[in-house]
Amino acid sequence: MSEIQKTSAARAPFNNPDHDIVLRSVDDVDFHNFKLILSLVSPIFKDMFTLPQNESEPAVPIIPVTEHSTILYPLLLLSYPTAGADPTFDTIDDARAVMEAAKKYEMDAILYRIGDLIVAHFLLAHSLDVYAMSCLAGWWHHARTAAFWSLEIEGLGRPSSGFAGMGAINASDCHRLLTYHYECGIAAQAVGKTLEWLPSTPDVSGMQMWGCIGCGRVAFGRPTIQIASFGKWTVTPWFQEYLVASGKELAARPCEQALLESASYNRATAKARECLFCRTVMAHHHLHTFRTFYIAEVRKVIAKVKLAS
Ligand SMILES: [Zn+2]
Repeated sequence: MSEIQKTSAARAPFNNPDHDIVLRSVDDVDFHNFKLILSLVSPIFKDMFTLPQNESEPAVPIIPVTEHSTILYPLLLLSYPTAGADPTFDTIDDARAVMEAAKKYEMDAILYRIGDLIVAHFLLAHSLDVYAMSCLAGWWHHARTAAFWSLEIEGLGRPSSGFAGMGAINASDCHRLLTYHYECGIAAQAVGKTLEWLPSTPDVSGMQMWGCIGCGRVAFGRPTIQIASFGKWTVTPWFQEYLVASGKELAARPCEQALLESASYNRATAKARECLFCRTVMAHHHLHTFRTFYIAEVRKVIAKVKLAS
């Protein structure tokens, strides 16, 4: 049986009969292509095509490659002028394999496009893998974005938060990510220690958390805290507890989501209902407004923390 019968033709656009080169995948799929296109995107192919052709070779040379057709198809599609839509990746492992092939053939321009596609497809669900791949490829802007999304992972650095791509990156890239997560945690936790960042408006000065004539006044000797530019005031016990507990939540998971999904927030609103005054003046409404300012400030301090380069 001849070899030709085992092979199959690739899908469009790699079935063009006018081709002048064939790339044969490891699973025997023939991709029709053009030397000019491949030479433009890959210096490896360009060098290959300048080698003198053996007379015994077929008129259209066949180059066997080590990639599977499922990897070769998206890789070649990204360089093909009439391809139209970008390829999609079923899994992050497929995307990683395409990235590695692009690196191998030194397809720098395509490598950048693969980076954008990986971020678009996998950032939210696989921020750590995207971080690892970005470090490997040298996409520092994507590494920063992925590090930011990794803040949503509670307690990053604990043994339970390992990830498949971790083995591929070096210890220094791993350490940079953990340091970033930790420093964002410290910065976010510090936000609730002084509230001088609140706007000095009548709405803020009239908030129940520091204006309650019931629970807010009873405990003599409680600590005071700076509220906007108004000075150091005592706050209600339920709010004091909220600041401490939400600070701990932010230290482990320094992101907006931690405040929106906070258990301490629900506890605070429940406790506020136990005070006759806090219950009647809708303390929960004030706490909700406070949380909006709180989130904005946390976002601001985290933006100042930089992933080391
Ligand atoms: Zn009260």
